[in-house]
Amino acid sequence: MKDIAIILGIRPDVIRASKILKLLESSNNLTYDFIWSGQHYSENMKDVFFEQLNVPKPNVEFEIEKGNDAAIVSSVIKNIYNHLEKNKYKAVIFLGDTNTVMGSIAVAQHNIPIVHIEGCMRSYDWRMPEEKYRTTIDHLSDRIYAYLDGYKNQGLKEGISEQIIKVTGNPIVDIINENKNLFESGDQFLSQEISKLIEKDDFLLATVHRRENVLEESSLKEIVNLINKTDKNVIFPMGYTTQKKMKEFNLNLNSNVYVCDPIGYLEFMHLLGRSDYVLSDSGTVVEEACILGTASIQLRFSTERPEVYDVESSVKFDPSEKHTDYESFISKVESLKNTNWEQPFGDGTASDKIVQDLVNLSDTDSFKKHAPSDYPFDISNSLKG
Ligand code: UDP
Repeated sequence: MKDIAIILGIRPDVIRASKILKLLESSNNLTYDFIWSGQHYSENMKDVFFEQLNVPKPNVEFEIEKGNDAAIVSSVIKNIYNHLEKNKYKAVIFLGDTNTVMGSIAVAQHNIPIVHIEGCMRSYDWRMPEEKYRTTIDHLSDRIYAYLDGYKNQGLKEGISEQIIKVTGNPIVDIINENKNLFESGDQFLSQEISKLIEKDDFLLATVHRRENVLEESSLKEIVNLINKTDKNVIFPMGYTTQKKMKEFNLNLNSNVYVCDPIGYLEFMHLLGRSDYVLSDSGTVVEEACILGTASIQLRFSTERPEVYDVESSVKFDPSEKHTDYESFISKVESLKNTNWEQPFGDGTASDKIVQDLVNLSDTDSFKKHAPSDYPFDISNSLKG
């Protein structure tokens, strides 16, 4: 029997947790199962990240239904529940706010302690399924790793016990610090077309994948209008749903925009570091840009990562609004290009802090014992079988 399990399921999970997985792999104090929920499964949305970052592979992989969000979530819950029938871990770890984290319901049903990495982030936008997911898992959790003090305070305001929240910094800083050299040589993985487009070092990068932007025709159109107002070469690795919706809505990008399928991490980070700025609705990309010193336009109505606005590395563009002044967003982000901000996401020790805390908690069975006194009841008395 392994001590703990970590369950991940999408591209940015592999990236953000890559050091945590390596530390777990080399730990003499903790044994673990790495379970892949099956949410992302293609070569360029999954395997390439394991290879490029040399991440230990999952030893358990679920085959889940994929029709829609409900099919994915219910299938993840069922798979986890069945797996836990035979595997009574001391704790099960999740990261983030995706369909995969809703598998925590099955862990709660088995009354096994739940650990949430990336806890207590809030956009305060209740229209986003991700906001509902992260609020749910935080309130089911027995241990929460919050990246920043501000996030911890958000959890406290909701009545989550102070004893279960530990502030660690954001592990994406660890990944960037440790892989900088690999990003520099990431151009070797670029296609010939992209290599040619970036020869003069005067280009932009774009990514768009969020439900609220892609499924909503008027929002996607606003984003296309904005990108079409740029006059530099734009490299746009486009997610598959976005590609499908662009066709369905009959939206066209100008000829300075080069669209391709999603690309590997090292080449993406190479481009991000060299680009003039990035236009993106990705939570992780705007953090990465801020850390690398690249300005961004964040294509979102609301965000759970307001720090990029606080340090002025990012300009907000709300795709749900009708705009006429696209140029003003472009000149705003251009004006940020040569300013220096201090990245606010931590000191690069988050992964070590998280793994050390997991070792401490599992050491003496304190996962069960740490249930704080202000919990309505002591879960150690109510454990199943
Ligand atoms: N990324 C990548 N290739 C791409 C686009 C993004 O490697 O073609 C990386 C990017 O550097 C970041 C992560 O994928 O680390 C972001 O994933 P996504 O935007 O899907 O998720 P989110 O951050 O919004 O959860």
